Amino acid sequence: MNCVACNEPMVVLELQEVEIDHCLACGGIWLDAGEIELLVDSKLEAGRLLEELSERRNRQPGKRKCPICLKKMEIIMIGPKDKVQIDHCRKNHGLWFDRGELETVLKIFDTDDHSAVHGLLKSMFGK
Ligand SMILES: [Zn+2]
Ligand SMILES: [Zn+2]
Repeated sequence: MNCVACNEPMVVLELQEVEIDHCLACGGIWLDAGEIELLVDSKLEAGRLLEELSERRNRQPGKRKCPICLKKMEIIMIGPKDKVQIDHCRKNHGLWFDRGELETVLKIFDTDDHSAVHGLLKSMFGK
């Protein structure tokens, strides 16, 4: 799969049998639908996060294309002043996070620091 943002080939990282596509060039992350649920340890938190994302009315058409269906994605804006803009495939294939966005989203939703996804971010970006 090629990167949504810069079109470089992405590498696949494996975490708890979940495959995550990561672009080494720009630091972006592609999560297939359902992968967030697997990554955030608490089902409650994952459910809340996904519900929030799917209920967001603050959307606008985006320019980036879904790496799976190649259709243009929409942008979901979240956080204070809509500062995080996540690309979302309308057919629900997955979500694209630019570098640092996944971390910000997790902070906004106050997820457990010990969850697998935090470990992943640490190993990827050394934070
Ligand atoms: Zn990239
Ligand atoms: Zn798609």
